[in-house]
Amino acid sequence: MKKIGVLTSGGDAPGMNAAVRAVVRSGLEKGAEVYAIYEGYQGMVDGGDKIKLMDWRSVGGILHLGGTVIGTARCKDFRERNGRLRAAHNLLSRGIDNLVIIGGDGSLTGAGKLCEEWESLVQELIESEQLPPDIADLHPELTVMGLVGSIDNDMAGTDISIGADTALHRITDAVDALSSTAASHQRSFVVEVMGRNCGYLALMSAIATGADWVLIPESPPNLDEWETKMCDVLRKGRQIGRRDSIVIISEGAQDRHGNPITSNYVQEVLETKLGEEARVTILGHVQRGGAPSAFDRNLSTLFGDAAVEAIMSNEVNGEALVIGIKGNKIIHTPLDVCLKKTHEIHNAIKNCDFETAMELRGSGFRESFQTIRTLVRALPHDPEPAQRSLRIAVMNADACAPGMNTVVRAAVRLGLDRGHEMLGIYNGLRGLMENDIKELDWMSVNGWAYIGGSELGTNRHIPVNSDFYTIARNIEEHRIDALLIVGGWSAYKAAILLNQQQRNFPSLGIPIVCFPASIDNNLPGSELSVGADTALNGIVEAVDRIKQSAVASRRVFVVEVMGGKCGYLALMGAMATGAERVYLNEEGVTLKDLVQDVNELVSGFQRGKRLGVVIRSEGANPTYSNDFIGALFAEEGGQYFSVRQASLGHLQQGGNPTPFDRILGTRMAQKSIEYLEQQCELKEPESASIGLLRGSFRFTSFRDLPRLMDDENGRPKDEWWLDLRPVAKTMARPAPLPVRRNHNLTTD
Ligand code: ADP
Repeated sequence: MKKIGVLTSGGDAPGMNAAVRAVVRSGLEKGAEVYAIYEGYQGMVDGGDKIKLMDWRSVGGILHLGGTVIGTARCKDFRERNGRLRAAHNLLSRGIDNLVIIGGDGSLTGAGKLCEEWESLVQELIESEQLPPDIADLHPELTVMGLVGSIDNDMAGTDISIGADTALHRITDAVDALSSTAASHQRSFVVEVMGRNCGYLALMSAIATGADWVLIPESPPNLDEWETKMCDVLRKGRQIGRRDSIVIISEGAQDRHGNPITSNYVQEVLETKLGEEARVTILGHVQRGGAPSAFDRNLSTLFGDAAVEAIMSNEVNGEALVIGIKGNKIIHTPLDVCLKKTHEIHNAIKNCDFETAMELRGSGFRESFQTIRTLVRALPHDPEPAQRSLRIAVMNADACAPGMNTVVRAAVRLGLDRGHEMLGIYNGLRGLMENDIKELDWMSVNGWAYIGGSELGTNRHIPVNSDFYTIARNIEEHRIDALLIVGGWSAYKAAILLNQQQRNFPSLGIPIVCFPASIDNNLPGSELSVGADTALNGIVEAVDRIKQSAVASRRVFVVEVMGGKCGYLALMGAMATGAERVYLNEEGVTLKDLVQDVNELVSGFQRGKRLGVVIRSEGANPTYSNDFIGALFAEEGGQYFSVRQASLGHLQQGGNPTPFDRILGTRMAQKSIEYLEQQCELKEPESASIGLLRGSFRFTSFRDLPRLMDDENGRPKDEWWLDLRPVAKTMARPAPLPVRRNHNLTTD
């Protein structure tokens, strides 16, 4: 039997518990023994009761908790060979030769060392007679899986690390709050965020909050100009009516000679050069704290499961790998490769070689920096004389999705910056028919980065008959050269129809971009749509509360979530909340399933379970409705638990967009404007949808779009996330009998 040790080390990060839970449950499911090593490497060096055998229930009730319940520490002993010798002894005396290490680059460096030295450590333990000679044959090598747990997102080998998304939530919440007080007093705020020498948190939070200036270590401002430039931008902003000024500064910010730029220095500059009262807020450890976001819970779950999967495959014995994510795919990269690249970036920054630092951070980072530099400008600069100025219209269509405003703001500002005239079409396709079209200037979208809903207004109208003529006439009248439609399923249908009608109405031949904005995440040509992450977090927060409300009362909740016949929200919501069961239209629901589920719940409650949650996608099955399932469960399980229903309804559509949705929206808006510009140069321009596919932004032509759409069910034919069902099922499996109670972290 394989024995796996799991530990969390270095700085704690929200999501670490979800990863530990996944390693334990996935390990048990696949037939391994899993040990939690408490207090990081210190527990490995000390041994004794710091290394505990885990069972299914040991990791119950921890998915939603911040920090790490198995503890973390900085351990000096482990830096020395002697400490690692003791650690190896403690592992070997329990037969553990597989490790899952959840931590930052320091922790993973330590793990790499242990892996490299393993053979010699084993030899030394045999020679000093601390372990019997046959141990060398039994455990010839150590296998290490590294999961990057760090809010800083400063390590190569993964697009994003465990904890970074949650940290962005904490930062955006704080900056949104500061913006309103800053606006009230017309004040400037300097907000310092974490990240050590990585500007990721600063850069992404600046995009997400619509900040007015950002300072990151990878791209310091020019020495002699930056203070004047920053003050100029902020001054101009004030002159055109901006009431709040927010400067985000990374804790590692520096000038081009490597001298630190502190938040107090920026404050001083604002007070002396701008003559404004400025306040400094250092966000500090709140960025690490609190419940993990939906994204971090699911990311950590997938990482933990993938680490165990790799170990159990026997194909990586003796290797040290980092488990990461690229796009939506889990990847494995040799640990030494990741550490080498990470150190190269650190060195480049230390040696003031900023070009290399930006290059190594990757194209997404560089593009995001370009985007923020444009967005912070108080007013667009003068267009290049040779550049053709276009009239680009933007509208929302279909149901409201959080993030729509963010997209419109970014598109309008980026378009204006490139010398175009930007038009807002109010009230969706109806507005286009009713000529509800206005020019949008830089300040007309001020503050839209972070507000939910749709300021332009939206509806689900799909044009028919004479509508096409009316629309074609209005497009002509307003001399619209290109159109960006931000919305859901009916927006896509309408756009394709308009495009097809160019045969009859030539003015409908303008290039169109369909931009995926829907909480349901049911659109073709993109693995994710703007709004889905916000809705998912809404579900997770609501279910966390529901669970808390009922923990003492032996209850089963049947929770209905939105999504039409697309089960994305239901499945991802179930995975992020630890729901026992999820009902999806894609899988269908049968009476046999329901009977089996209620029997499993009854047997769970008989064995001491106190709470159950099942999530039902609203379109799962019209007959087996929430009422039906609730009544069935109450009838069959009434002796053991009571049943309550919750329909989350429009709570999922409301709310301010999450940082993920704001960043995705802003970055795709930029790509959309660029695409429209390019198409306007062509004699026969194309129309397309934009989307996130395999980690990059791609366009799908209207020629291909219809065959990717499952019209009958209102969802794409390819639903990538269905592949995640086995992991979700494993995590939700009931605890097997007999239940071992000695190592419980919690009792539920
Ligand atoms: P993080 O993992 O968040 O980067 P640290 O750099 O503090 O945090 O590392 C956490 C722990 O990992 C250290 O306390 C130490 O026990 C171990 N560690 C870090 N660097 C090394 C190293 N070069 N060799 C051995 N162990 C190390």
